[in-house]
Amino acid sequence: ARAADDDAPPSPGVLADGTAVPLLANLGKPADADEAVARGAEGVGLFRTEFLFLSAETAPTVDEQREAYTQLLQAFGGKKVVVRMLDAGADKPLAFLNDSDEENPALGLRGLRSLRAAEAVLRDQLTALAAADAATEADLWVMAPMVATVEETAYFTALAREHGLKTTGVMIEIPAAALLADRVLAHADFASIGTNDLTQYTMAADRMLGSVASYQDPWHPAVLRLVAEVGTAGAALGKPVGICGEAAADPLLALVLVGLGATSLSMAPAALSDVRRALSERTLDETRQLAEAALAADDAAHARSAVAAATASLP
Ligand code: PEP
Ligand code: MG
Repeated sequence: ARAADDDAPPSPGVLADGTAVPLLANLGKPADADEAVARGAEGVGLFRTEFLFLSAETAPTVDEQREAYTQLLQAFGGKKVVVRMLDAGADKPLAFLNDSDEENPALGLRGLRSLRAAEAVLRDQLTALAAADAATEADLWVMAPMVATVEETAYFTALAREHGLKTTGVMIEIPAAALLADRVLAHADFASIGTNDLTQYTMAADRMLGSVASYQDPWHPAVLRLVAEVGTAGAALGKPVGICGEAAADPLLALVLVGLGATSLSMAPAALSDVRRALSERTLDETRQLAEAALAADDAAHARSAVAAATASLP
């Protein structure tokens, strides 16, 4: 019986009290879909489209994009697939969208800002996604990266809808968007929190720079307060709030994020089984207690140790 259990497909993400927390995959190319499915990903929470075009000199055509997106959507059957619009700039410059002369690329024309400045590229991507959506059964969600304002949210939602895309959202990875999450979410169907950039911008520490790497810790209570802001707004409006930064892959932090209001978690496929196990051992109420312990700390190290201690005192 043991061997049969081990061979069984991984179960969905669920808390000890039965609350579902879908566990999704972060992917950078369609070819990685099979591994994600084998590891029990319930869909894709972040498909990083810019990874397909990092070495391209010119903008990709609608046809080549449609082919890649169709392959991705087909691999996930009727499941949810969240595709992020090209997130160009800073750590991921694209020759056809970014100006390499910027002194502070992380604070420059990047993400949705650069797409908006080259709107034909954004329109082509939406056209390709709508065609892939029409040709497959998958539940396609699209989202914009590096959104800072309510106005940008409304802009992206309108443009995506104009292209026939039904479920449109934004990444929350800039503190301004987290602080105004209730207003932002009024104009979007969902939010997905990118904890990597949200930490970088909250702590004002370049995520690529080794000398300030100690600041890049999503356990920091300042980051967690922003996550809570988004979770509260999502709950009030009845809109999903996913997490797609690396933080979701830390089993203990994943519990805290659920306690702060995350309704799904997306991560590298290799992390799925450990997070799935951690969730299965705690109720929603317990994750909220862990979140309180983390929020009450002064810094990341103390948040981590407070949550570890609080976990030990739970049944
Ligand atoms: C993030 O910023 O947390 C995120 C998921 O996006 P990326 O790491 O691709 O910037
Ligand atoms: Mg990011």
